[in-house]
Amino acid sequence: MTKETPVHLPEGYLDFFMQLESWQNKQQISLQKRLEPVRENSLNISEATEPLLNIIDIDFDVDTYQKLYTGFLDFMLEDRSELSADLSLIRTAQSQFDWPSIIEEITNENRSYFTNLANLYQLNPEVLLFTAEHSLRPLIRAFARLYYESWLEIGVKHWNSPASCPFCGSDAHISRIRNEDGRRFMFCERCFTEWEVRYLYCVHCNNDEPGSIRIMNLENDTAHKLYLCEKCKSYMKTYDERQTLQTVDMYIASVQTIYLDLLAEEKGYNGKSATNNNLY
Ligand SMILES: [Zn+2]
Ligand SMILES: [Zn+2]
Repeated sequence: MTKETPVHLPEGYLDFFMQLESWQNKQQISLQKRLEPVRENSLNISEATEPLLNIIDIDFDVDTYQKLYTGFLDFMLEDRSELSADLSLIRTAQSQFDWPSIIEEITNENRSYFTNLANLYQLNPEVLLFTAEHSLRPLIRAFARLYYESWLEIGVKHWNSPASCPFCGSDAHISRIRNEDGRRFMFCERCFTEWEVRYLYCVHCNNDEPGSIRIMNLENDTAHKLYLCEKCKSYMKTYDERQTLQTVDMYIASVQTIYLDLLAEEKGYNGKSATNNNLY
């Protein structure tokens, strides 16, 4: 573990997610070399009214995904041997999967599709969903990165739904305050896209009334904060770079701050969405 946290995280929790991210990074780099994804230039992304992934024509190659999936099962077998029984059952069943549908339903975040599929083949639904989701992420990120700069340049705009990613549509769980200028950016754990929102603003209900958004942090940790909205009783985790003068891996920052999620929920605030880190 690289950082002490105020609550005890399950043994190996943080290490696992660091290994997971590193596996995904490696896959992403090799995909970029092989697929050479190109940006869709005909599109004015600042005017898009739904996630870009629904609009642009990305062909997630089925063979490529199947290879990623098999490789991911190997990674999981090594790193999470306690799940080996569940993983072996998935490995046996996967030859019968309808892969194009799996890709489609993962991008749509259709959880019930995976519950049904798990029922059909007697698989653990959580493990099935986790493996399907995390093995697609390198592919999504290989395309998402072509637009990273553009989202940052757009600045604050009236996003249709500022709580979800303008590239892949996934719900965000964390934002960061940039050290240089105090601007605030939401972060997507799925595709690593960032988009700007106002500093004192609730992404869930658009509330910006003074006094109705509280910022809270734990003693001895001024960098990791909770933005609490009194209007809709929701929260957003936020990493404030100005406190440490350091940028951090936002994916890991989100994973290692589950204690903030627990704290917010304990106080009656809602995160509005489940994270995909629920294999512990
Ligand atoms: Zn995204
Ligand atoms: Zn709110």
